[in-house]
Amino acid sequence: MCENPNQQPRCPACRLHQELCVCSMAPRLALRTRVAVIMHYADAVKMSNSGRLVSLCLTNSAVHIRGLKDTPLGALVCVNPASRLVLFPGRDSQELTPQLVAALAPPITLLIPDGSWNQARRAVKREPQLQGALRVHLPPGLQARHRIRAHANANRLCTFEAISQALGIIEGAAIEQRLDDFFSIWVRRVLYTKGQLTKAQLACGECSGKGAAVVGCLESRQRRDATVRR
Ligand SMILES: [Zn+2]
Repeated sequence: MCENPNQQPRCPACRLHQELCVCSMAPRLALRTRVAVIMHYADAVKMSNSGRLVSLCLTNSAVHIRGLKDTPLGALVCVNPASRLVLFPGRDSQELTPQLVAALAPPITLLIPDGSWNQARRAVKREPQLQGALRVHLPPGLQARHRIRAHANANRLCTFEAISQALGIIEGAAIEQRLDDFFSIWVRRVLYTKGQLTKAQLACGECSGKGAAVVGCLESRQRRDATVRR
């Protein structure tokens, strides 16, 4: 057993310590909408990067690494180029609404530039495969439900939360809820790893907040379901 907690083995998929791995709890949703995360290489190694979780939750998704010298972005799979959306706000972006979605020919491909604000902005500007896609932003006024990084403000959603809210508009509220339930578990385990939650707060029924308690119960239910299936 490693003495330094930071050197304990981590799950390569969810980046949590192996005893906290959430991979078996991820919903495996087969959506018509394809999600491609274009992730800056420097962000890919961070435990707090949430973009990588789409690979666990959405069978029709991929994470592409960009920014490495002499290594171009891999080919983005897209069935219908006319229905490509880039989720990145700006003066030339449109609000993502059910009306806009209804006007697009399915299937939609949702392209997500990931990393710091500047890294994402550069991806939108420079990556040839993002050119020509319709730029969209989430409806104004959405508040972040989860805070992982200390500097995050309530108006800036982390990548996974932005994806789940966008899919809520494209695929429906039930999909968003399932993604959010899973994300709540992951966030709490990240906060625990960072020392911002106690072990007791991770356990069902001992959580301090109502929302956290609900997630705790969900975790218990998923563990129970997994046991029954074995
Ligand atoms: Zn894992």
